[in-house]
Amino acid sequence: MARPLSILFVSSEAYPFAKTGGLADVSYSLPLAIREFGHDIRVMIPKYGSISERKNKIHEINRLREIPIPIGENSWPATVKSSSMNNPRQKVQAYITTNVNYFDAKKGFYADPLTGINYPDNDERFIFFNKTVLQTCLVLGWFPDIIHCNDWQTGLIPALIRTIYPQEFKRAKIVYTIHNFNNLGSFASESFDKTGLPADVRDSVLHNGNLNFAKAGTMYSDCVTTVSPSYAADIMSGAAYSDGINNVIASRHGELSGIIHGVDNYVWNPKNDSYLARNYDRTSVNDKFLNKERLLNRVGLPVQYTTPLIGMISRFSEQKGVRLLLEAADELFAENVQLIILGEGDPELQDAVSELKERFPTKVGVKIGFDDELAHLIEASADMFLMPSLFEPCGLNQLYSFVYGTVPIVRATGGLADTVSDFNPETKEGNGFVFQEFAADAMLVAVRRALHTFHEREQWEAVQQNGMNGDYSWSASGRYYSELYRSLLRD
Ligand code: ADP
Repeated sequence: MARPLSILFVSSEAYPFAKTGGLADVSYSLPLAIREFGHDIRVMIPKYGSISERKNKIHEINRLREIPIPIGENSWPATVKSSSMNNPRQKVQAYITTNVNYFDAKKGFYADPLTGINYPDNDERFIFFNKTVLQTCLVLGWFPDIIHCNDWQTGLIPALIRTIYPQEFKRAKIVYTIHNFNNLGSFASESFDKTGLPADVRDSVLHNGNLNFAKAGTMYSDCVTTVSPSYAADIMSGAAYSDGINNVIASRHGELSGIIHGVDNYVWNPKNDSYLARNYDRTSVNDKFLNKERLLNRVGLPVQYTTPLIGMISRFSEQKGVRLLLEAADELFAENVQLIILGEGDPELQDAVSELKERFPTKVGVKIGFDDELAHLIEASADMFLMPSLFEPCGLNQLYSFVYGTVPIVRATGGLADTVSDFNPETKEGNGFVFQEFAADAMLVAVRRALHTFHEREQWEAVQQNGMNGDYSWSASGRYYSELYRSLLRD
């Protein structure tokens, strides 16, 4: 049997400690899936003020107390604590970076939750986190075979390794995964002086005159990946936004592969999901109505069994296409349909969505905020799940929807295009309803097709079962990364 590898997986969020979106789900499930292949994989994240040490069983490690981390002319202490991420089969060690000013004193991860504005010291916060990751390895004397960095918040790690600690980490290969090219960690050029990187690498980590974490990650890693084949192709062709980082990838690495996420069977599974009124599986999917009853009662909407219910769970940003819903509202709610939407983000979109509730009080339920329990209940209760995204690197909710027998209605972009196929009533093939153009009219056509199919019971069961019968396990991605790590170490 091949030798197990040592792997450090670094991320700015990981379920169950800290979650704003899909990155947290991935940073939990993927390491546990990789652990299945026998590797020693450990995860490292920052401890934001909203993470409870008691609830998450986070405790101190003597050797990792008060490590001095230089930031520009100053030095601040990092205390790295320990916890674990578990499922019934596996356990993964988690290292959690604490610092009073940068993390504990701030409840938000990236932005002030009260104003939605990014913290002004985000450059320092993540320079600090990146440097702490390396100091932790040095103090522990642990030099992993693979360092897997995720998104801009970890982008300086490859540059710090290759320029400051080349000897210590000489065996290590670095993978850098970009989960969303819309946020690449760009800061004023003066931020470079806080990184401690040698002056002669300045140009290689500056992009359009700014310090760019993602460019640094791309330049100094051994391999760059993203999260679906279609998104990878769109990035490299320039069809999807990447602020020119696609050219850096092309010249440095040649190609960009896209690996689709999975569904964590222990977290998202209608058979044993503890947030549901009634558990079910593909043989008892009609029991969904008991969950629907609970959800509609919870949000104060009339319970109407023959009215299809659309669910939506989303960060409120331009990416997610909330605007299409707003534009289509008059025509959509003229139909026999109800909609429940859970999300938070852009204050203007939050207000506009809340207004929908006022305009269509018996048809629309709205919850502004982050609510994991409600997210599970929506997946289990809704008949359809709407994702009209402008772009979608991978997307997880369409996969969760399949598993919960909730039929996705999506725009064909990125991971949505790769995982959802349009239902054909003639052949009964297809697991969802797909539209191409990013326009309210195009979305309405797809929604109306879904509403019509809902009332054709045989057809509906076919599209529902096509989704529920798919294989969405994490093991395929776990295997892909495990093999990628080995191939890098062979080179
Ligand atoms: P992204 O990472 O772009 O936000 P994904 O579809 O990849 O989108 O993942 C979103 C994840 O975050 C899913 O697990 C989804 O259920 C969850 N989520 C998003 N918004 C909320 C919310 N307001 N409350 C609870 N869970 C949410």
